[in-house]
Amino acid sequence: MSFDAIIIGSGPAGLTSAYHIAKAGNKVLLLEKLKEDDIGKTPPTSILKTYTFTETGFDRPHGNELLAFIDTLNIYSSTGKTRKEVKFNYIIIDRILMSKRLLGYAKEKGVVFKDNISVDSLIIEDEKVVGIVTNSGESIKAKIVIDAGGITSHLKSLVPKSFNIEEKIEDKHIANAYIEKLSERRNPTQVNSFIGVKGGNVWVSPIEIGCGSFEHSLDLRDSLHEFIKDKSIKASYDSSKSSKGSIAVRQNLANFVGDGFAVVGDSACMVSSLDGAGVTTSMIGAKLLAETVNECLKNNDLSQKALWKYNVNYNIKLGAELAYMDILRKTLISFAPDDIDFAFKNDIITSKDILDSLTGDITNLKAVDKARRALKGIARPHVLLKLEVCLIKAKELKYHYMNYPSSPEKFNEWVNILNHINDSVV
Ligand SMILES: Cc1cc2nc3c(=O)[nH]c(=O)nc-3n(C[C@H](O)[C@H](O)[C@H](O)COP(=O)(O)OP(=O)(O)OC[C@H]3O[C@@H](n4cnc5c(N)ncnc54)[C@H](O)[C@@H]3O)c2cc1C
Repeated sequence: MSFDAIIIGSGPAGLTSAYHIAKAGNKVLLLEKLKEDDIGKTPPTSILKTYTFTETGFDRPHGNELLAFIDTLNIYSSTGKTRKEVKFNYIIIDRILMSKRLLGYAKEKGVVFKDNISVDSLIIEDEKVVGIVTNSGESIKAKIVIDAGGITSHLKSLVPKSFNIEEKIEDKHIANAYIEKLSERRNPTQVNSFIGVKGGNVWVSPIEIGCGSFEHSLDLRDSLHEFIKDKSIKASYDSSKSSKGSIAVRQNLANFVGDGFAVVGDSACMVSSLDGAGVTTSMIGAKLLAETVNECLKNNDLSQKALWKYNVNYNIKLGAELAYMDILRKTLISFAPDDIDFAFKNDIITSKDILDSLTGDITNLKAVDKARRALKGIARPHVLLKLEVCLIKAKELKYHYMNYPSSPEKFNEWVNILNHINDSVV
């Protein structure tokens, strides 16, 4: 048995790439270790950017799949004393229903879907990936194998070192996340997010409360309840409807491809590190991957060099924007809580700064704006200095991603500069 593409994992990234590769007339096998009915259950709801579906070629959710429209994001300091209001459109969706719908589209395009099958290893011949081996020992060959197995996927660690794909996501970049369903809806169009709480953040949407933290020893359930009580946040939650998991909070992998192999979604760390959201970025990444794979299948060339276009397209479209956000996140969490209160209260960090970081826009501080901030920040010059360095570094990093090398030959040089910029931050 042989396929054009084997995709491992039927999360948002796997479903999107399977649909688009099959739509071009290719033979696709989608393998999932869960049973079909359990797909999309962890987490069962998600907050997504509204443009997710139009950008990835699917109809927008409606009916029971669409749980809420959000038009305002309130970013609070961890003390809850100060806030920045950002006007931004999100939707909250039912992930079980979304997964069923996308899987239906994929099957309609001819994708062969097999559930309850775990991919254990890869078949590698002459330093090329040529297939997979399942937990029952079955070997299946394909022209390309796509790892869409999420944050726990071990497949990257099995590919030849010559691919230059990071093998493992370091623990320091992994945040644990925990959510509970609200018993009754509140603030129907707003999400409140508290930054810098217990090594992470806490959020309250109309549907759920949740928290994420890098402190792996914390009991997130207790921390969340404690915070909600301490801050007198009015929310009645249902602890029996909870969900937890991990999120890679960092810049995406520097390289996603090797001969006959590509990685996408959480497994490639395609996550917005400011809020831990990965569905939109994983689906857009999967669409970009599918476009390159379709071209490569047409030309019968699945080499790393041919697949490289996917690296370039992703990093210019999203990697640059996400790297910018990553610097802003690192800077925000490095401030003491009362420094954040000071920066919010005096408009040293403005709502526009936060909006720009969500849209990937580069804040070109004008002379007059700099002077205004300097005046307001005079009582705490270190806050202003840190913010200025943050904006300079974020801009430098964004441009570096926009200049992603057009072929593998210049990759090592690009990574060296990337590491140098990152090392000089905060
Ligand atoms: C608690 C929590 C809340 C979150 N909330 C949000 C949110 O509100 N908005 C947002 O955008 N993002 C959110 N995220 C992040 C989001 O869930 C991920 O970024 C997104 O699911 C990534 O999609 P993916 O397809 O790459 O991976 P996944 O959704 O993890 O899918 C991977 C799939 O691969 C399967 N698989 C893995 N290994 C194998 C194997 N060896 N063989 C066969 N199958 C395999 C898994 O069973 C799984 O179904 C949240 C995450 C958590 C943990």
